[in-house]
Amino acid sequence: MNKVAPAIVWFRQDLRVQDHAALNAAAADGRPIVALYVLDDTSPGQWALGGAARWWLHHSLAALDRSLQARGGRLVLRRGPAAVVVPAVAQEVGATEIHAGRQHEPWAREADATTADALRGVGATLTLHRTATLFDMDAVRTKTGGIYGVYTPFARTARTLTPAPLAQAPARLPSAAIPSDTLASLDLLPRNPDWSGGFDWQVGEDAAHIRLAAFLDRAVHGYDQTRNLPGQPGTSMVSPHLHWGELSPSQVWHTARQAAQQTGEGLEVYLSEILWREFSAYLLYHHPHLPEKPLRPEFARLPVRDAPAELRAWQRGQTGVPIVDAGMRQLWQTGWMHNRVRMITASFLVKQLLLPWQDGTVFFWDKLVDADLASNSASWQWIAGCGTDNSPFFRVFNPVTQGEKFDPDGAYVKRFVPELAALPPSAVHQPWAADPAVLRRAGVVLGTTYPAPIVDLAAGRLRALDAFKALRAA
Ligand code: FAD
Repeated sequence: MNKVAPAIVWFRQDLRVQDHAALNAAAADGRPIVALYVLDDTSPGQWALGGAARWWLHHSLAALDRSLQARGGRLVLRRGPAAVVVPAVAQEVGATEIHAGRQHEPWAREADATTADALRGVGATLTLHRTATLFDMDAVRTKTGGIYGVYTPFARTARTLTPAPLAQAPARLPSAAIPSDTLASLDLLPRNPDWSGGFDWQVGEDAAHIRLAAFLDRAVHGYDQTRNLPGQPGTSMVSPHLHWGELSPSQVWHTARQAAQQTGEGLEVYLSEILWREFSAYLLYHHPHLPEKPLRPEFARLPVRDAPAELRAWQRGQTGVPIVDAGMRQLWQTGWMHNRVRMITASFLVKQLLLPWQDGTVFFWDKLVDADLASNSASWQWIAGCGTDNSPFFRVFNPVTQGEKFDPDGAYVKRFVPELAALPPSAVHQPWAADPAVLRRAGVVLGTTYPAPIVDLAAGRLRALDAFKALRAA
């Protein structure tokens, strides 16, 4: 009897077995598969995988291997340029069909094209499937067939479409036996020093479903109210699971909809956030320069500052503005930051400090476990006022009033900036304005135990508005 040639499923940012169109296509008819992950460290320059992302990837690959093994398979790890490695594996096992999920990063699209070419050269074909978004990136169109630039009409149209039903994973995934690199040899974990001690995450597909279920059971009911409160567990924290594809957005969408009987406004707002993710991917797909260049080209002329010491203070959570420092320290310690605080810290960088938004994008890229080229770049452009759908540049977040409104008891600040823990809530967001006796009692000496603010917030705001006026006048 002839041996059936295996098909290859090339895993990328879709590290799961459930609802995986590429895996299901590769495993059709019960033929053996090669489940391949290629660590391609060769391409994308400043967008090479950040440290926090590498940490997540290590654990996610381990979890995927466990899921595959439970179905009789295993994950094959290789390292090198995809356009070389994937065809080499195809030849090694005699595969002519390679299935993979579609990604929207410019380098991934380039890798698709070069890998498909190289595969053709060895008599094999690459078939791409939608594994990372709700819809194909060309599916959501204006009435005249154009591309949306603004979220609200995009989301209105997207809501008229229905995400595809969920696909079950094959019960058995017999695998062709070929050598694999070891996970340790990919060298993804931090060493000397290992800074990941505060990363309190359960990684992998099973953990992702547990986290989503807990959120839908509990917090989604009041999500429209609590999602802005960084001191409370009011959001789902599934962003790294979504980024790495341990959960598909369709799984989130359908599972959340099924919970709809008991929920109302919270659920609808939650689904809108899932559509923000979709819209970000859509923007990146249609504007591949999104990570580097403002979508409003005139913003390239904004007279930004060059202030390395201030940039460093922002990066280290040492600006002297408590909610900003708390956010940046949450990022360092946990690899994640609450959305409200991402907005506050980003606005502080691009407005009060008048530094380039690209500096912030690159820093977040290295530090976030959910670092996602589309969501990160689109969000930074939104905050910087230079996206197509933006918070206007002249709307400058005041970090003190933001802190007082969204962290009224100061619990969030006190958690990440412990040197302010003994301050009363009335002083915690603005220690420089506190009564000296209050500071003394709390053991706070500005400039010694905690920095004095690196910028006068009112003056910083006016400087930003002047720069904006200069841009409009030019
Ligand atoms: P929830 O509030 O529970 O929302 C559910 C899901 O919806 C999220 O997991 C996420 O996938 C999606 N979502 C929510 N808000 C947004 C948003 N504004 N834009 C796009 N998708 C959204 N998100 C990333 O996944 N990766 C990034 O690199 C990233 N960088 C950001 C940078 C800045 C400056 C800002 C302001 C936002 C950024 N976001 C990014 C969006 C958002 O902050 C995170 O998705 C969210 O905080 C994740 O937490 P959660 O899973 O608890 O979100």
